[in-house]
Order: sequence, then C-alpha cells, then structure tokens
Amino acid sequence: MQGGEPREIEGQAGAEAKRPLFGASADELRAWVVGCGHKAYRVKQVLQWAFHRRARSFGDMTDVPLDLRKKLDAEWTLFATELAFRGVADDGAEKLLLRCRDGRNIECVLMGDAESTRRTVCISTQVGCGMGCVFCASGLKGVERNLTSAEIFDQVLQAQSLLPPGESVTHIVVMGMGESLANLDNLLVALDRVCSPADGLGMSQRRVTVSTVGLPEKIRKLAAQDRQYHLAVSLHAPTEALRDELVPVNEKIGLAAVLEAADDYFRITGRQVTYEYVMLGGVNDRREHARALGKLLKGRKSHVNLIPYNPVAGLPFRRPEPEDVRRFVSDVESYGVSVTIRRTRGRSIDAACGQLRRRFEDQDQARGEPEPVAIGGPS
Ligand code: SAH
Repeated sequence: MQGGEPREIEGQAGAEAKRPLFGASADELRAWVVGCGHKAYRVKQVLQWAFHRRARSFGDMTDVPLDLRKKLDAEWTLFATELAFRGVADDGAEKLLLRCRDGRNIECVLMGDAESTRRTVCISTQVGCGMGCVFCASGLKGVERNLTSAEIFDQVLQAQSLLPPGESVTHIVVMGMGESLANLDNLLVALDRVCSPADGLGMSQRRVTVSTVGLPEKIRKLAAQDRQYHLAVSLHAPTEALRDELVPVNEKIGLAAVLEAADDYFRITGRQVTYEYVMLGGVNDRREHARALGKLLKGRKSHVNLIPYNPVAGLPFRRPEPEDVRRFVSDVESYGVSVTIRRTRGRSIDAACGQLRRRFEDQDQARGEPEPVAIGGPS
C-alpha cells in the first residue's frame, strides 16, 4: 500500500481495475500464475474451462486450486462484457446483447443449423459504425469507439459458453456492428486467439469471414498477415454513382480501388473473395444492375452473396420481390459469376446489425430502463 492510504480505498480501486482475462496474452497469464506461486500449466486448465467446459466464473473451475481461483477472481474477470439480454428467434437464431464496462452495448448473433453441427457467431468490431451505409441500422448515430480485442473475443466466448455440451462455435462471421477493417489491429489479436490451437479455441482460419465496406489499404494489410481468413466485400452497387449513394465512403475510395484491392487479396492469399450485395427493392435490384454487376465481376475469381434487405424502422427501403431476386440471380449467373442468396435469420429478434442495440437504447431513453424485446413475434 502506498502513502498510508486506507485499505478500503485501495480495495475499491482494485475491484474497478480487474482486467478481462483475454485482454492478456497467454504468456502474460502464465507469468502472472507463476508470480502467484503456481505452475504455468494451470493456465492451460483455466483456458480449457473457459473454452471447452462452459465455465461462467472462476468458481466453476473446480480442479484449479482454490487459492488460485480466489486470486484470479480478485484480479481478473473471465468475461470482458456482461450478458445483458439473450433473445431466441422463431428460427433458432440467438441474439446476445452484451454490456461493456463503460455501459455501451454490443451485439452478436449465434446461428445454428438443424441439419449440421455448424454453429456460426456473427460478431461486432465497433460500437456504432462510421461508414454511413444508408440502409444500415448500425451507423445511424455514427461510430462511438473501437472494441478492444478482449471485447471482440468475448462475443465468441459468451456464445460458446451458452451452447449445450457437445456443441461448439464452428464458424465466425465478422458482420455485426462496425467496420471490421477500421479496427483491424484489435480484430487480428482477437482472431489469433480464436484460431490458436494451443491458447485459443483452435478454430480453422478458413472458417472465419471478415466483412468490409472495402477499405483498400486495410484489405492489403489483412492480405499481408499470412492468414487464411475469407474476405467478404460489401459492394451493394455495380456503378460508381449508385455506390456513392448507398455507401457514402465510396466517394473517397471508388469502385475500381475496392476491386483492385480485392483482386490483390485473392492473388496474395489464394482465397476467393465474396461480394455482398444488399438488395433494396426498386433501388439496386433491376435487370440493368444485375447485368452491370455481372460485367464487373466476370472473369474475377469471385462469388456474389445477395442479401435481401432486412427492414430497419424509419428507413425508406423495402425488401425486393422474390421474382426480382430470382431474375437477378440468373442475370448475374449468365456472366459466369456464382451467386447465392443469404437466408434472413433472426428477423423476429432484430438480428440485423445494430437493430437490437438501437431498440434497447431507444427504450432506455424513452423510459429510463430497457425492456426485453418480443421474442418469436413479428419484428
Ligand atoms: N462494415 C462491414 C461489416 C458489418 S455489416 C461491412 O460493411 O461489410 C455486414 C453486412 O450486413 C454488410 O454487407 C452490410 O451491408 C449488411 N447490412 C447492413 N444493414 C443491412 C440491412 N438492413 N439488411 C441487410 N443487410 C444489411
């Protein structure tokens, strides 16, 4: 204790200063455990509990010595965020609202698949988003801050800890709130932990998809990391004028620069790039758009993923007509470009990025406290 300050004050400060366990590297944790007078292999045990044995507190880790569990509990938190809300949609998708220590909320979605063991988590990288795509709920109030690597990793850990025994998170899509590549450094640290076989979840890099609005320099930086992540570029329009309208950052970047960077990504990593295309009824779903998109991507080793617009309250867009979607697919395919349509998941729980948080925060402002959203009803 310094300067003869009362012990209680030191204790309080200590409690506030508890660090999230996964804000530290495994090496740091080993050094800390050894400093506590225990063997370094205890870290492995703690990680096993956190990643594979569904522990939700240090107290759950029954074969870790009690003294070490107490020390862990005094200095660290197992999770970087608190689970504030968990909603299950009609189709089984689960939306988690996580509260950060500064009171800000982030979202992630856990999607299962009845026919396979595939369990996908969609994670966020920022609170809000600064890209301003006109159809997206996440960016309506701009970006508040980057998530830390611990907060990014925490979304995977929280989702995994909620799965029944025997099930694991098998895939990650970085398609939640925020522009993934605007927070690339923290994202890389978090994904390294997800994919580390020794100190992480041991997930294959090939099962991780990073989605971006298309920041060319960051795409090249990601390509240079010697990782095998799948890149998805949110294109949404085949012409400069339309993309400027829908994705305002395009004015500063330009379609050609986005495509060149994506081509470089493929050249450097050997991984085929996916182009995401949110279909907005009457806006970018016409035959001329499909043909222009086909021409743009023809000959490129790429794939198009069409996303029917997920309505956001207050925004002036509508979902495309099913026959327009079908025609769009065959028009693009006629240029030799492969196309899939993304199934909309979790609509009844506002699973589109930024929507659940928005609903909670609007309620917060209106009534002073959050109310759970209706589960299983229409959104
Ligand atoms: N900033 C990144 C990742 C987050 S958004 C990016 O732009 O890719 C993930 C995907 O969801 C993007 O393709 C985005 O355009 C799409 N999206 C956003 N709002 C949507 C909505 N209301 N309906 C359907 N897709 C939406």
